[in-house]
Amino acid sequence: MHDRQNDNKFTKARERMLRCDLKGRDIIDPRVLAAMVEVPRDEFIPQTYQSQAYDDGPLPIGLGQTISQPYIVALMTQELRPGPDCEVLEIGTGSGYQTAVLSKLVKKVYTIERFSQLSESAQAALGRLGINNVEFYIGDGSLGWPDSRLPEKGCFDRIIITAAVPKIPKPIAGQLVDGGFIVAPVGYTGVQRLVLCEKKAAKSIEKVICDVRFVKLLGEYGFEEK
Ligand code: SAH
Repeated sequence: MHDRQNDNKFTKARERMLRCDLKGRDIIDPRVLAAMVEVPRDEFIPQTYQSQAYDDGPLPIGLGQTISQPYIVALMTQELRPGPDCEVLEIGTGSGYQTAVLSKLVKKVYTIERFSQLSESAQAALGRLGINNVEFYIGDGSLGWPDSRLPEKGCFDRIIITAAVPKIPKPIAGQLVDGGFIVAPVGYTGVQRLVLCEKKAAKSIEKVICDVRFVKLLGEYGFEEK
């Protein structure tokens, strides 16, 4: 379980994050704010960067990937409208931090990562925190969740993509329930638009939230690997 001494060490930093970087901006959903306080971000940060665990920015997690800025994690979570009965698909497990935040707010999270090393350390971090409503899969998330392992109703209530996509991959969009939401960074360049898509009567209604910078989603329906 989580180490109490570390908890104390980071309490002040976490309070500052909450006050300045989240509430001080536009994070207002009390459930999201509570989850951001509950999940210790330091558990998901490599040893070298521990002292920066609650800073207002992304940090390297190895293999050229990053853990997102806390504000962006909170914003994407808030925009996703995660209800307690939701089953959520996440593409790009990375450190597992966004996964852990979501796990506090929904029924179940299904998360895909292409690097087994990252998935395994995310699984270990969630294990240390006693989180057990998450299913992990290692593979190309641009293809969506494997059909043979879909939840009972055959689709997801919410989908979050935490790597940049040229456009929302078709196989992923096809796994969203009617009335569901997808949040994703969409764009071809270094800066993408964070987009909220609502699926209504098989149509997609899009709203642009803000500009963001994410690492690329590689894979069959993502960017080509160079
Ligand atoms: N949400 C993460 C941030 C992830 S960074 C966090 O909080 O730490 C984006 C992640 O997407 C990286 O770990 C990268 O390896 C992964 N990724 C890139 N392309 C992918 C693909 N096709 N399928 C699954 N994961 C992918």
